[in-house]
This record gives sequence, C-alpha cells and structure tokens, in this order.
Amino acid sequence: MASERIDVLGLPVDDVDMSTAIGRIAGFIASKSMHQVVTADASMVVTASMDSEFLAIAKAAAMVTSDGAGILWASRKLGLGIRNKCSGVDLAERIVSESVQRGWRIFFFGAAPGVAALAATEMQNRYPGCNIVGTRDGYFDASAGASVAAEIAGCQPDIVLVALGIPKQEKWISMYGNLTGAKVCIGVGGTLDVFSGTVQRAPVWMQKRGLEWFYRLTSDPRQLRNRIQKQKLLPKFVGMVLKASR
Ligand code: UDP
Repeated sequence: MASERIDVLGLPVDDVDMSTAIGRIAGFIASKSMHQVVTADASMVVTASMDSEFLAIAKAAAMVTSDGAGILWASRKLGLGIRNKCSGVDLAERIVSESVQRGWRIFFFGAAPGVAALAATEMQNRYPGCNIVGTRDGYFDASAGASVAAEIAGCQPDIVLVALGIPKQEKWISMYGNLTGAKVCIGVGGTLDVFSGTVQRAPVWMQKRGLEWFYRLTSDPRQLRNRIQKQKLLPKFVGMVLKASR
C-alpha cells in the first residue's frame, strides 16, 4: 500500500499500516544511514505545536506512524483520510518477532533500571530465537547522552527501541541516534514497561475503544504524575481539533 505524509495540525503523519511500516524498516536497515521513526499520538500533536525543536525533528523523521485512536479521531473530524494505525508498542513487538527470521539486531534502551532486561527476557520467552543484543535503562545524566550512545554502539544493533517518553526520546535520537551505529531508532514510550509486565496493557475492548490511556492512568500509580501531566494535553488536543474543524 502506498502511503502519503498527511499534516495533522502541523504534525506530519504517514498513513502506514503495520506491514508497510515493517517493509520500510527493512529498507532502512539495508541502507547506510540512521533513520528516525516516530510513533505519533495525540499528546505529540500538542507538544509539536508548542515546541518548535520537537516539530522540526518530527518533520525530518524518516517515518511517522499514527499511534492510536486520537490521531484517527482527528483525521475523521478534519477529513484528512488517515486510515491506518501502527502504535509504538505493536510495532516494537512485531520488530522483535520479525528478528527471529530476519536476524535483525535489536537493542532495548529506556525505562527504569532492570525493566529493559526484564522486557528482553519476556520477549525471548514469547519469541524464542529473537535477536535482542543488549539492554540499558533510561536514567542517566543529561551530559551522558553521547557516551550512552557509544555504549549502545558496542552491541552493534540494527534497531534501537528508545523508551524515554515524548519528547525526550525523539530529541535523544535526533542528537545521538547516529552515534549508535543503528540504521533505525524508534521512540516507543512505555513499551518496555508493557513488555516487562511492569505495566499491563488494557483489556482488548478498551484498546479497541481508544481507552488504553485511561486504563494506564488508573492502573499504574507510580506513573500517575507523569500520566496526569500528559492527560492535561488531551483537552488541548480536542480543543485544537474542534477549532480547526469549524
Ligand atoms: N523514562 C526514562 N528516562 C527518563 C524518563 C522516562 O527511561 O528520563 C521512561 C519511563 O520509565 C517510561 C517511559 O520512559 O518507561 C515513558 O513512558 P510513557 O508511557 O510515559 O511515554 P510516552 O507516553 O511519553 O510516550
């Protein structure tokens, strides 16, 4: 399926489904340079409208997928024609499963100490033979960005899944992603928490209705402050969409 880049209130989004996204990633891996992949949710549209550095990074990304229900709702309201969804957590899991056959070398970077390693163990149980070549937590001094990238490069990954939260992960990839030697760096938010079992995914019926954020808000008290901060962006997002649709 061909895809086009669609402007969602300033944020560019590629209307790609999972198999198209995986096909593109395979192409990136076969190339010579680092490609940044962004998985865009509703909060990101608001962040991009307030943070010009972040917006420039998203515009320069090799691929921006639509993470979920918020973007699809905005697309319907604004008649933008986005039909596909490819969330960070689903894309990351598919990449891990593809690595069994394709041999892609994957690095898990981010989340609290111990979580990335636990996520790797869980994925190795779920997808025997998957190729996770290293893990590292996401808590480090701001001045250590380049040395963390060099540490990751030592494992020679093809793909780095960067789970530092929005917009930190996109900014880190833009600054240091090329120092990892990987061909693909993807910002995946809370994915490693989900993989590790530290955070449960919402029941499927809630995922289908776009209520995963609500489930996580109520089920993960450790991240409550972070989540509440993020949920404050949602009314702004709704306001932006309704204003633009008038
Ligand atoms: N995180 C991290 N380093 C930081 C800040 C956050 O590794 O300096 C991790 C955090 O532990 C969590 C993830 O980043 O695993 C953020 O998850 P969230 O679902 O909040 O991401 P977002 O919704 O912003 O994509």
